[in-house]
Amino acid sequence: MATRLITTPDGRRIPDPRSTQAWRKLAKRVAIEEPTCWLRFEGCTIRSTTGDHVIPVTVRPDLALVRSNVRGACPGCNYKRGNLPVDSLRLGGQMSRPSALDIFD
Ligand SMILES: [Zn+2]
Repeated sequence: MATRLITTPDGRRIPDPRSTQAWRKLAKRVAIEEPTCWLRFEGCTIRSTTGDHVIPVTVRPDLALVRSNVRGACPGCNYKRGNLPVDSLRLGGQMSRPSALDIFD
């Protein structure tokens, strides 16, 4: 399998830590420990099956395999978030929710 490369903020090209066995193991553990998606974007399936990096791997590759930097997320939300910084997500109690979710209030 070819090793994927990512570009760090300082322009270095390094192997993607998410292509390692260690990452797959950690992501699996996170999905078990946090079974609900923490992102809850529009179209969220709620069920977490992937590991989402709080601080994106491209920003802090050194935190890629640190448990506290990984939250459970559904594949759709994880993909949608991409590398958005966590500050721009407005998660938690004061989160402005997508209007499609208002019907659940
Ligand atoms: Zn989700």
